[in-house]
Amino acid sequence: MHYHIWTSGCQMNVADSQRVAAGLERLGYLPTKRAKDADVILLNTCVVRQQPEDKAVGRINQLKRVKARHPERVLAVMGCFVGVKSPVSLQKRFPWVDLFLPPSDPTDLWAYLAEHAELAEAQTLIADAEARRLALGRTDTILPPSEAGQTPTAYLPIVLGCSHACTYCVIPYRRGVERSRPVAVIVAEAEQLVAQGVKELTLLGQIVDRYGYDLPEFAGAEETPLVTLLYRLHEIEGLQRLRFLTSHPHWMKDDLLRAVAALPKVCEHIEVPIQAGDDEILTQMRRGYTVADYRRLVARIRELIPNVSIATDIIVGFPGETEEQFQHTYELLEELRLDKAHIARYSARPLTVATRTLEDALSHEEKERRRRVLDDLQSRILAAKNARYLGETVEILVAGYQERKNRWYGRTRTDRLVFFESAGDWLGQLAQIKITWAGPWSLVGEKS
Ligand code: SF4
Repeated sequence: MHYHIWTSGCQMNVADSQRVAAGLERLGYLPTKRAKDADVILLNTCVVRQQPEDKAVGRINQLKRVKARHPERVLAVMGCFVGVKSPVSLQKRFPWVDLFLPPSDPTDLWAYLAEHAELAEAQTLIADAEARRLALGRTDTILPPSEAGQTPTAYLPIVLGCSHACTYCVIPYRRGVERSRPVAVIVAEAEQLVAQGVKELTLLGQIVDRYGYDLPEFAGAEETPLVTLLYRLHEIEGLQRLRFLTSHPHWMKDDLLRAVAALPKVCEHIEVPIQAGDDEILTQMRRGYTVADYRRLVARIRELIPNVSIATDIIVGFPGETEEQFQHTYELLEELRLDKAHIARYSARPLTVATRTLEDALSHEEKERRRRVLDDLQSRILAAKNARYLGETVEILVAGYQERKNRWYGRTRTDRLVFFESAGDWLGQLAQIKITWAGPWSLVGEKS
């Protein structure tokens, strides 16, 4: 029996797919790279922009032929294309799909396999989920346990959904309101992953700094709940590195920054999107901070965390964005010289406030021109910043091997991607690499 999982989108989707894979392997399925060879096919989808949504629809349509030839095979669609609401309209639109699963919740897949594939073990997965649901007294999403597989790094979702209302964002509509997972559940899962060989954990949340605000165990707490969690996870023997993403400028507190500086295992890398460098646009996006606030935050992060690297997200071409407002974003990036900037074109999403109230008048070509202008700027900034690594020795956690180029790769604590060639098995090890080449997006070196 084989399974094939196709994953699109963010780290949260990657984490969800890893969990479904773990469950399917417990049922005796083996992975296959080709959907047409699989008994169970899962498409884990993203709709944060039109392009990934079109890709998902393309995949679903492509698999209509496979289902026609092999009706006994199971085709499931999961993630933000489905969302948390009833999938009735999707079932009408794609009748050849057996199952539509909400983000992070494959319970119905286990039920389907228990019934259709007569897999008694599937009942155990359902019972597990139910037991955890009851133990936590929560009716919402209960993630199945993850298995480490072969990688020394793993994602660990700690807060699901989002209760913010950025006007361009579809996530709250598709992943639901914010729900934090209890500390005990997260710590137990982290210990299990470390026992299976994981060396680095990345804690995930749409606004990861809002972790725990909805949990009774933190009611009235002075300390930021994420800080409490970081200290708990930091005690786990065998865990070498901790990361967290994605932060929000409004919710980053000083005690979190001090914890990053104080805890040796927590990597000095912060992902905090600004989205735009103009106050009017930020107001229309309902982000809840100003450019001056963000500038102060970056200065504070650099003051409290030595050698810190900072990554951000930018949306270009938001409805009504003038050339002058775009220039404000350009000038801010030029000034702050951040370590990474994910730059995306604005894409009108269904139901969002921006789509309902603002005209998306800028052409695709103009949005793409603005995206490229910022990308070129960031590439110049990074080429200059990375040049200082030449001749330096950096420590990386080796995360994998690139077959086609016969080289190992891993990341520094500041999230720089490093490649090196060396005999021996380096997977999961900390390696000291002397940098011999530096480009905007990666570094190359030799074992020192
Ligand atoms: S913080 Fe805003 S952009 Fe991020 S997931 Fe929530 S609504 Fe979307």
